[in-house]
Amino acid sequence: MKIVVKVGSNLLLNKRGIGIDVDYIRDLCNQISTLTDNGNEVILVSSGAYVSGYGLLKVKYPQDISKKQALCAIGQVELMKAYSTAFGERKKYVSQLLVTRDDFDNRKRFLNIRNTLISLAEFGVIPIINENDTVATDEIRVGDNDTLASYVAIGTMADILILLTSVNGVFAEDGSLISVYDEHLPLLAMENSHWGQGGVKTKIAAAKRVSNVGITAVVANGRIPNAVLRIAHGEKIGTIFPKSTTVRAKKAWIGFVAKPSGKIFVDKGARTAILQGKSLLPIGVIRVEGNFFQGDTVEITFKDTVIAHGITNYSSDELSKIRGVYTSDIEKILGHSGYEEVCHADNLIIKCEAKGGF
Ligand code: GLU
Repeated sequence: MKIVVKVGSNLLLNKRGIGIDVDYIRDLCNQISTLTDNGNEVILVSSGAYVSGYGLLKVKYPQDISKKQALCAIGQVELMKAYSTAFGERKKYVSQLLVTRDDFDNRKRFLNIRNTLISLAEFGVIPIINENDTVATDEIRVGDNDTLASYVAIGTMADILILLTSVNGVFAEDGSLISVYDEHLPLLAMENSHWGQGGVKTKIAAAKRVSNVGITAVVANGRIPNAVLRIAHGEKIGTIFPKSTTVRAKKAWIGFVAKPSGKIFVDKGARTAILQGKSLLPIGVIRVEGNFFQGDTVEITFKDTVIAHGITNYSSDELSKIRGVYTSDIEKILGHSGYEEVCHADNLIIKCEAKGGF
């Protein structure tokens, strides 16, 4: 089984409230080691760089972004030292992957991450992933590690994503724990994490994102003894987000990871064709919005609803010229022959809004 485990800053904070909890890390690493010793593959997404850097330097709580980034740069080393020591006690090596939003939007970079993870699995080395906080400005930030972990889970087509937090899961409005997530249940409003970037909203979004493509997600309290081991063995702890039908890895990336560069508005006929699993042809395109190039991911929109995400064979400039025309006329208009389809069916994934829920 392939398992992505995400551990948040609040869990990693030590009892004094400053710096990382080395005992917690050792316990987590022991659980993960037991899983890998039993033939599972585990990828760890760990926050805690900031908490760790802050704990080391004990400076005044910084407001300015470069100081925060500096603390992450310092803390990341300390964090990895703790993981390396703890996994070392179980005779395992660790590896560090620091990534940003760009690395997931760009399919080539995304595939590089995936291939590296495949090789690390072959070597039996534990990958530990965090955002590259030092270089990540707002535009290229994933922003929180719940989202990051969901991208990793989709990228590797994991079987399960375990989001460890310091509360018992997701709560209903009346304060009771929701054991199986249901879209329609009103939720208890909860504060975001003090140390980390995420909160219950990012966790739910991350869990839904992966369950949409066939990956089970669990939001659970990482302080429950052996939580990771027990969840991996099927015990019902926390809130589970059951998986829907499995989607091919590439489609999952198109639909739920890559950031769309523009929009293609289509007519009713094209909408029907797409929902039936067919390709998008130029004849069905009404207009385009945004600047995009061949190979970019775009939103396919009918009226106000995004019905699909797809990879476009034409740039926005080209598509403005061939919108509404028959495929046989493309060459005459563009001066070169191109693809019959704007987006091939293999590169299209229907979004839940179009079907009224996945
Ligand atoms: N990357 C940040 C850190 O290591 C945490 C991000 C998050 O809390 O989601 O401190």
